[in-house]
Amino acid sequence: MKKIKWQGIISLALVILMMFVVVFGVQQFSKKTADTPAEGTQGGAQANNGGATVDAADGTYTGTARGFGGDIVAEVTIAGGQITAVKVTGDSETEGLGSVAVEKLPERILKAQSLNVDTISGASISSDAVLLAVANALQEAGIDPASLTGTGDSASVQKTDETIDVDVVVVGAGGAGMAAALTLKQNGKNVIILEKMPYVGGNTTKATGGMNAAETHYQAEQDIEDSVEQFVEDTMKGGKEMNNIDLVTTMAENSSDAIDWLDSIGAPLPKVSFSGGATNARIHSPEDGSGVGEYLVAAFSKNLEEAGIPVYLETKATEIITVDGKAAGVKAESPEKNYTINAKAVVLATGGFGANEEMYTTYRPDLKGTVTTNAPGATGDGIVMAEAVGADLVDIEQIQLHPTVEQSTSMLITEGVRGDGAILVNQSGKRFTNEMLTRDKVSAAELEQEGCYAYVIFDQNLREGLKATEKYIKNGLVTEAATIEELAEKLAIDPATLAETLKNWNSYVAEGSDPEFGRDTGMEADLSTAPYYAIKIAPGIHHTMGGIKIDTETQVINTEGEAIAGLFAAGEVTGGVHGGNRIGGNAVTDIVVFGRIAGQSATDYVDGK
Ligand code: ADP
Repeated sequence: MKKIKWQGIISLALVILMMFVVVFGVQQFSKKTADTPAEGTQGGAQANNGGATVDAADGTYTGTARGFGGDIVAEVTIAGGQITAVKVTGDSETEGLGSVAVEKLPERILKAQSLNVDTISGASISSDAVLLAVANALQEAGIDPASLTGTGDSASVQKTDETIDVDVVVVGAGGAGMAAALTLKQNGKNVIILEKMPYVGGNTTKATGGMNAAETHYQAEQDIEDSVEQFVEDTMKGGKEMNNIDLVTTMAENSSDAIDWLDSIGAPLPKVSFSGGATNARIHSPEDGSGVGEYLVAAFSKNLEEAGIPVYLETKATEIITVDGKAAGVKAESPEKNYTINAKAVVLATGGFGANEEMYTTYRPDLKGTVTTNAPGATGDGIVMAEAVGADLVDIEQIQLHPTVEQSTSMLITEGVRGDGAILVNQSGKRFTNEMLTRDKVSAAELEQEGCYAYVIFDQNLREGLKATEKYIKNGLVTEAATIEELAEKLAIDPATLAETLKNWNSYVAEGSDPEFGRDTGMEADLSTAPYYAIKIAPGIHHTMGGIKIDTETQVINTEGEAIAGLFAAGEVTGGVHGGNRIGGNAVTDIVVFGRIAGQSATDYVDGK
């Protein structure tokens, strides 16, 4: 009798457990991700709703939702009780992040026949907006989105093992990885790229300024005098002389050639201007004023596609394979597969670790809780993988804060705003620093203010001259007012103090000198044209200067000071180029120059040279 009772209880528990597994298991597995490689087909997005149908009249229904940069519009077509098409448009989403949500989620929704799909990490606002727009369209059709329990075809996904043999595997599809892969392909090598995110670009996409280069043909055509020596000197000075001078010299010497190479692949950077820390006009940017990162990532992607270089998206490298102490490939995993990639050489281009709070607080406990401007893939994987095979690290605790980051969105307010004349004030309505000092100094000054934040103040004249400000306004980051006093009131600052600060500042601009803080640049225009604007900002983690130790040929150096055969690294994953502070415009030079060198060095290694 007792035995039977226990059996009953155990059976009931098992039933409950199974129900639990079914419900949660289905939720897990229905979070299906994209097909790989990127150049492959998307695998015919067919409806699979387990036979269930939606109860709505045939037709196309529309729904909208607010995305990151504007409205997202979804069109959902219902035919024969199935969702047969999902089309989403949202032109204002961030290229490479939100735009990926707009592109990928409709296909996933169609496959799953429900909204229970994997979203795009790093693009949560856009992802949520796409889902909401589709939900609104479904409601328009009289369908309760929550009633859609379709599990797509992913419930049955069982990971399979796959082995791939190539000449070279590049890990990371940011600027450095793409430049390396293009160089390898140009040299006739069989190369693939692994990228853990569902999109390419990494932190490179976020670069707004340009690329520093000296003795370029663009400088010559514009009668700008500059030299490799001066470029080296400026970089060393900016880096507090902590940089590895051999790496800096290699970067500067190859910078002009890198500009020529960008010309040759259809990515010219013809505009040359001044930027912080540079003695001469040296920063090269796109003709149309677009952000250099988005521009280069688009051009690199086009070239990768044309060259037929496979990019395995959502495929994360987890381990470097070594044979007899030499790098011989990587282990990697995607949602569908466990890969063993056998390669004659490995190029690590996984970027920095500015998005990995646990990692950066290990090296810099003082940065706990600081927001980051970094792309979500910047988690230091390459550093960890390289260390596991003996690589040495340099300057790992050198982390750059950017002083003007809007905290609720982590959006970086470009230096161009201050460069065009904006000032910084604290909650008391007073300036507290020369706004044009290096990033580390301005950040430190902000952290000394009450609440550790400040406001960037600008006027209508500045807004009209700087395209970037429109993005901030569109995203609701900007407080606007018809007068300085009204602006102060909206910010809970004493109006008389802010008015006095602006009056003084405008007189300094008129005189061309700032007796309070010694600012002498970004003073071409005063702040006297209404309306007035303010953005609340504080420092955010921006660039991890330290990383894997490399030599000038991008060979990874181990803790014994020896090169690890077959292992190369380039870009933010490495340390030594930027020392204790990276100057604006050098991140792009770093990735293009050393990305290309990594491609060449890996080629030579494979060729036995
Ligand atoms: P860089 O500027 O040095 O090129 P980026 O941040 O632009 O660096 O690009 C690095 C890329 O590497 C990012 O797209 C990131 O998602 C990717 N990545 C990081 N870790 C891995 C990993 N373990 N496997 C594959 N890709 C990775």
